[in-house]
Formats: sequence, C-alpha cells, structure tokens
Amino acid sequence: MSTIAENIAKVRTRIREAAQASERDFSAIGLLAVSKTKPATAIREAHACGVVDFGENYLQEALAKQQELTDLPLTWHFIGPIQSNKTKPIAEHFHWVHSVDRLKIAERLSAQRTAGLAPLNVCLQVNVSGEASKSGCAPEELPALAAAVSTLPNLRLRGLMAIPEPTEDRAEQHAAFARLRQLAHSLDLPLDTLSMGMSHDLEAAIAEGATWVRIGTALFGARDYGQPAQQ
Ligand SMILES: *Cc1c(COP(=O)(O)O)cnc(C)c1O
Repeated sequence: MSTIAENIAKVRTRIREAAQASERDFSAIGLLAVSKTKPATAIREAHACGVVDFGENYLQEALAKQQELTDLPLTWHFIGPIQSNKTKPIAEHFHWVHSVDRLKIAERLSAQRTAGLAPLNVCLQVNVSGEASKSGCAPEELPALAAAVSTLPNLRLRGLMAIPEPTEDRAEQHAAFARLRQLAHSLDLPLDTLSMGMSHDLEAAIAEGATWVRIGTALFGARDYGQPAQQ
C-alpha cells in the first residue's frame, strides 16, 4: 500500500473508534481530505481509496488542481480565508464553502453562484477561541449573520465551522467543540453540519458532534510552505 492509502486506513480507523466511543454512526461523519499544498497526484491516490471530498485554502492552487482532475467526480470544499474580490471563482467552482464569516462575502457568493448549479453549501466560521484567533465571526454576531445568510437564494446554510486554537489539552479541545455545537443548537435554523476537528483533535471533535472532520497532515504528511502558496 502507498503511504497515502495507509494513512487513509489509519484515519478511518480513528474516526470509527471515535464514533464508537461516543455511540455515533460512523457514516454520519464525513472525511474531508485537506489537500492544500499537495499535488493533484496525491488527490488522485486518495480518490482511488474512496475519498471524494477535498478541501482547499488557496484559490489559484485549487483551480489548477481542479483542471487536472476533471475526469474524477470530486466534491470541492473551500476552507480558507475569503477576500471579497475572490468570491466569483469560489461561487463557480466549489460545492461547499466552510469559511464564510461575514454577510458581504455570503451576499457576493449568492449573487455570483452559477445559474443552474445547485445552491452553494455554506458553513459559517465562528471564532470559538476569543482573542487568540482572528478568523471567524464573534459568537455574539452569529445569530444575526446566520439569519441573514439563511435567506440568500443561492446559498444553503448547512451549519458552523471552527478552527480552535491548537492545544494538546483534551478538556480544552472538548470545550471549544462543545461551544460550537451549542451555538449551532441555539440558532433557530435547520442546520445539519458541524465542520470541526483536524489531524490532532478529531477524536474530541467527533465526541462533540462533528459531521465533517478536515484532515490534512494525517493523510498527506507535513506541508512544505517553502514555496509560497499562490493566492
Ligand atoms: C490546513 C487546514 C486543515 C487541516 O489541518 P491538519 O492539521 O493538517 O489536519 C483543516 N482545516 C483548515 C481550515 C485548514 O486550513
């Protein structure tokens, strides 16, 4: 087996064990393979093992890989920070956007979604770590943002996303993910998605209700940022 195939098997085992530990259905937890900085060949290898969902952070890099992989039926997720002048290609070339954190971006994505395509699935990114983190809307702003986004015609608001401050402390991991779950439940909206958990903390995220875990390093190895990623 290739390294990627072995890594996928290991990550699936971790997801299955975490699901069992919290008496959750394994099939309710999606594996989103985060392929930023990795070549199209790595995505091809992962797809050969049954992975269909891929997350990318850098628009130009993602579009180039999509061009190389048009023969595969992949589902593309944009998970990086969004500048307002980049919303059109995101609205045209992705199935999901996990990192919407302000209304202006959501309005542009809705207005620019390609006619005839299904509504763009979106998650609102919430800052659950306070001042330590700069991206994501503040929890206090979430109810108004969610209500407004839920009315946009070409978006389908699916749920919430968070990237808590990295910590090895299990109790802190659980607290941050529980916070996101509680925020989702506090909204009076039909949400079905919690995008939370990465390579180092997927167990805590699954215990707290994750429906997407976004896994890069544990699948594809450490990332090399020596070559500046293209924006
Ligand atoms: C890079 C990235 C990930 C993957 O992180 P790993 O620790 O490599 O698993 C997940 N989510 C987001 C938003 C990312 O930018």
